[in-house]
Amino acid sequence: MAQTIKSIKGVRDILPDAVHHWHFLEQHVRELTAAYGYREMRTPLLEKTELFKRSIGDVTDIVEKEMYSFEDRNGDLLSLRPENTASCVRAAIQHGLLTNNQVSRIWYVGPMFRRENPQRGRYRQFSQVGAEVYGMAGPYIEAELILLSARLWQRLGLTEHVALQINSLGSSEDRVRYRAILVDYLTDHLSDLDDDSRRRLETNPLRVLDTKNPQMKDIVGGAPQIIDHLEAESAEHFAALKETLTTCKINFEVNTRLVRGLDYYSHTVFEWVTGRLGAQGTVCAGGRYDGLTEQLGARLTPGVGWALGMDRLVELIDELGCNDTEPRPDVFMILAGDKAIVRGLAVAEMLREAEPHWTVICNCGGGSMKSQFKKADKSVAKVAVIIGETELENGTVGLKNLREKSDQQTVEESRLIDTLRAIFV
Ligand code: ATP
Ligand code: MG
Repeated sequence: MAQTIKSIKGVRDILPDAVHHWHFLEQHVRELTAAYGYREMRTPLLEKTELFKRSIGDVTDIVEKEMYSFEDRNGDLLSLRPENTASCVRAAIQHGLLTNNQVSRIWYVGPMFRRENPQRGRYRQFSQVGAEVYGMAGPYIEAELILLSARLWQRLGLTEHVALQINSLGSSEDRVRYRAILVDYLTDHLSDLDDDSRRRLETNPLRVLDTKNPQMKDIVGGAPQIIDHLEAESAEHFAALKETLTTCKINFEVNTRLVRGLDYYSHTVFEWVTGRLGAQGTVCAGGRYDGLTEQLGARLTPGVGWALGMDRLVELIDELGCNDTEPRPDVFMILAGDKAIVRGLAVAEMLREAEPHWTVICNCGGGSMKSQFKKADKSVAKVAVIIGETELENGTVGLKNLREKSDQQTVEESRLIDTLRAIFV
């Protein structure tokens, strides 16, 4: 026999037993985004590499070492998308969604690709839901986006397990001034910096604060904080956000170390963090990215958004048992012999026609009555409908309520739908 082929490292199969958690999350996302007036956008998985270099930033972990990039046959450099904010802005520019100061609220769902070290909560293919708003510069839309995410936690039963951290990175002018202060500080501690940080000190010093190296914790911890160096306007923006969140009863903590791993952010950044998932505790992250449209060659349009990690959320939902009710089939058809299978398929169609929401499973594979009853039990169906020789001859079906373990009864085929309706009320 030939060797079996396994999936590649860091990518996962979502098996049928687990998929209901994904449906649960996706359904609430769909309902809530609609309730807040966000419209879905679907962008390609494949984009020009240049798009991510220009948006996320050349000197970020993602662009430096995590992208799946290749040269197309015609020489184009392409990458699997590592995130979707850049693609959404690219699409919004390309299709004129940003013209005439119109406001667009959009959301998306889909897989992203980053060549990271696979571990719990960190995969090479993972899925995100994101929400993005173009055209509004104030703190209030940031509050709306946070409210939307908070309501999602409430719907999913996660509210008490996640906490909101916010910070401000100020305007680009604030960052230029802060950059000089930070460079002074880091230069004073040059001998304590790791190689990555030394390189970043030259190219993009703010990224030093984003280091994942535990040995750098003290240096980063002692660094001057951008929040202490904001101009009045930026400070007011941040104060208004905090006030709005407080009025809307959203608890938050200001984390002055929060800088996010992508270069396009300005002013507000935030993360929702849980303590229940070990090291990979951030389940949702986002912020304002006003400069991004210009970086991508269009007129400056304010932008703000977040992305949530579905893989981590599903793990949380699963672990906390927020959604442990996998839908049960309604009817399992036990069919003895080929003729019974044919009739069974027809009866099943009749049931689906009458009650489209019923789940009806036909055992089309034969097997003894005993083994078919076992399958019916295992399927956790509510009712078994049985067709054997006698039933075929008499135009009847056997019916057994599997939940109550009652005796099998005989029902005229014409009475089956009503009998089942009575059982399922
Ligand atoms: P992290 O700090 O965990 O590396 P990030 O800052 O790189 O996250 P973003 O690009 O902001 O993450 O993505 C938003 C969310 O997507 C994260 O908060 C996380 O929940 C999820 N996410 C990011 N990378 C992965 C991954 N490799 N596997 C699973 N989920 C991920
Ligand atoms: Mg990351």
